[in-house]
Amino acid sequence: MKFQSTRNASPNLGFRDAFASGLAPDGGLYLPESLPCMPDTLLNGDTSSYASLAFEFLRHFDTDHSPEELKALIDRSYEGTFDDPATAPLKKLADNLFVLELFHGPTLAFKDFGLQLVGNLFEDQIQRSGQSINVLGATSGDTGSAAIHGLADKKGVNVFILYPKGRISPLQERQMTCTEADNIFPIPIEGSFDDAQLIVKELFGDLEFKAQVGLSAINSINLARVLAQSIYYFHAWAQLPQSARANDPTFVVPTGNFGNILAGWLAGKMGLPAQHFSIATNRNDILYKLFTTGRYQVGEVHSSLAPSMDIQVASNFERFLFYQLNGDGKQVAELMQNIKQGADLQIPDFDCDSFAATHSSDQEITALIRQVYEKYDYIVDPHTACAFKDLDPSRTNIVLSTAHPAKFPDTIEQAIAVHPTHPALEKLKSRTPVCYEKPAQAKAIREFILANQA
Ligand SMILES: *Cc1c(COP(=O)(O)O)cnc(C)c1O
Repeated sequence: MKFQSTRNASPNLGFRDAFASGLAPDGGLYLPESLPCMPDTLLNGDTSSYASLAFEFLRHFDTDHSPEELKALIDRSYEGTFDDPATAPLKKLADNLFVLELFHGPTLAFKDFGLQLVGNLFEDQIQRSGQSINVLGATSGDTGSAAIHGLADKKGVNVFILYPKGRISPLQERQMTCTEADNIFPIPIEGSFDDAQLIVKELFGDLEFKAQVGLSAINSINLARVLAQSIYYFHAWAQLPQSARANDPTFVVPTGNFGNILAGWLAGKMGLPAQHFSIATNRNDILYKLFTTGRYQVGEVHSSLAPSMDIQVASNFERFLFYQLNGDGKQVAELMQNIKQGADLQIPDFDCDSFAATHSSDQEITALIRQVYEKYDYIVDPHTACAFKDLDPSRTNIVLSTAHPAKFPDTIEQAIAVHPTHPALEKLKSRTPVCYEKPAQAKAIREFILANQA
């Protein structure tokens, strides 16, 4: 299988090369040249474990590794790293309402599904090339800690994650600073998340530096992350009772960068019988507006109780746009350029029939946490809470739960007067945090990486 850029102006690459390059040279994102149709065995629960399902799926895309190598990579990613035997268990709340729990990985958020695999793919790349790499990223919370846990203690890679000092939750900070791994460098900066992102952009733009230290990114546009996320939609289907399958199932997905829901929609194009998806956003309702009106209008980012969805430009939307525009890479490039410059634009012939969308204010998030708790005796985190808004009772709803509630204890406590905990988070409280405070200047970060590179 080869992978093509959404902008059609770069050579097509095999899996390993597309994975390693992240962004295509023409600025586009990689997608499979064609989408294979998955066999029924993936839908019927015939595969014995999550890892074997993942192998049956990924072997269609990664034809660079031998099947044995790929299987070993996948086993390392999903065997013994998640704390539930089903890896992504489907819990029934009512006859027409299910929750797919995606928070059983090391950082208790769904990003572990992508980043556990990415960590092992990086390790494989380093062993193969003999060249060490340095991963640089900026985080406002979950991505950074999932990346860190995917790469902690791996040989030949050091990880530098910038975050705005004092502006991420204390537990999220502990997840990054208490790993006890010497290849991890969490860097709180004196500035905002945007400042952190600008520094990362500037350093990636410094091509000499980039080559000198083998700088790599670990962000939500990574091809392997998107593919890894399609797998659990099949896994959800395999666990869904027959009676619920017949009732027009909808996957309801708390959405920020559009990576998670895109993976589901792609699964739908590869044989997953569910064809309906619902986008749940917080007060940053740009995707809600887009999918209800076809209009992309970039505004300001507002902070909310569901911080991992506080975005304005949904980076993975470009992949969806590519299919919307029937693979016209030139038009994709033009529209994305306009979106990045903050234009207010109408997407031509925008067909969003497969999608519904909702948005929830902070007040509604708190109320939804309370309602779900009272009605089903089940605690949802603030991101997952958004997915419970305006559910259509006439069909089967499968809510993707993207984080464990114990990651957001204050919001939960405010809503229902219960303080959720998790042993993995309690354990962190006895460890000493290690981090490297820096000013919000690219120069300071460049020097720090040079002095501490792998
Ligand atoms: C990242 C994240 C999201 C948003 O996912 P996207 O793939 O960016 O749409 C939602 N909830 C949680 C808890 C997250 O960490």
